Amino acid sequence: MIDLHCHILSGIDDGASNDEISLNMARKAFLEGIHTIVATPHHQNGRYFNEKKDIIQYVQELNELLKKEEIPLTILPGQEIRLYGEIFEDYQAEKILTLNDTGKYLFIEFPSSQVPHYAERLFFDIQSKGLIPIIVHPERNSRLLEEPNLLYKLIKNGALAQVTAGSVTGHFGKKVKRLSHQLIQSNLVHFVSSDAHNLGGRSFYMREALEVIKNEHGQDTVYMFLENAQYVIQGQMCHKEPPEVIKKKKFLGIF
Ligand code: FE
Repeated sequence: MIDLHCHILSGIDDGASNDEISLNMARKAFLEGIHTIVATPHHQNGRYFNEKKDIIQYVQELNELLKKEEIPLTILPGQEIRLYGEIFEDYQAEKILTLNDTGKYLFIEFPSSQVPHYAERLFFDIQSKGLIPIIVHPERNSRLLEEPNLLYKLIKNGALAQVTAGSVTGHFGKKVKRLSHQLIQSNLVHFVSSDAHNLGGRSFYMREALEVIKNEHGQDTVYMFLENAQYVIQGQMCHKEPPEVIKKKKFLGIF
């Protein structure tokens, strides 16, 4: 399987802090059945700045290290971009990187307690240029926990969303778990990824998450998520079901 969201590159954000941890994360990923990881370091989140050319170089270095250590895993370049106004200008300036550099999908993170008002307009603008925003872990955003249908509008307008494996399994608490499943159920999610930062509290949980998703939503949803990850790294169109508004009844119904 492919993991689209992972902080496996060492020493450049709050993910792996050294090469040994990167390698141990790679070994763990392989044991979970992951063969390809898109490395997505933070960019523009107020603490970390990781531009395209640097990420591509770090990915190449890690791939060489994996080869040397005989770990059968491929790392592809990506970036987790905090929403900011100049994303498209910086994309043109080659600072912003699409997932696997295909020129198609951008990983976008909202501030943890807000859905900025300008997101809708900005998404419209970047989508009109042929880029597709993928909103990372909406289930962990405290504004969306209160008003999940803010996400509905963005998805209806063509954005995609990625849920984090540890959210689905309950590692981020009950509320986050519940929202994850409501979002999946309402066709507001298109990918599950690890967002692994280490092998402690922020590990992969991918296998466990797929098992939970299979039990709660069926094998078809699992296949859709697995295939969509493949489409992303190939720069192709993803599967989407018509998004639904989350109803209050549904909201209280699960878990
Ligand atoms: Fe992340």
